[in-house]
Amino acid sequence: MCNCILTTEKRFKEELSLKNENYKDIKIQYANFENKMIGLKDGKVRFLIPINIEGTKLSKKGKEVKVKKTEYLMTDYCPFCGDELVEESVVNE
Ligand SMILES: [Zn+2]
Repeated sequence: MCNCILTTEKRFKEELSLKNENYKDIKIQYANFENKMIGLKDGKVRFLIPINIEGTKLSKKGKEVKVKKTEYLMTDYCPFCGDELVEESVVNE
């Protein structure tokens, strides 16, 4: 398994203030991807892709009300190098 997600964060933290003028006078403490998830069981780093759900449902009084929710899809492959992030046995659990 690759380590692209963590190394990309590390590179950003180290190089951003050197390469981007907007960050020249900023001492960066963290550079972390927003939807990163570290598996509690396997310690593997994955991305969660949010998917916004909008719809309607009937209230107890029978009135149609709007519903908004967000669900997350978990990535199985690294978006940087294409390596599989999840082994077959983990996917099927
Ligand atoms: Zn990778």
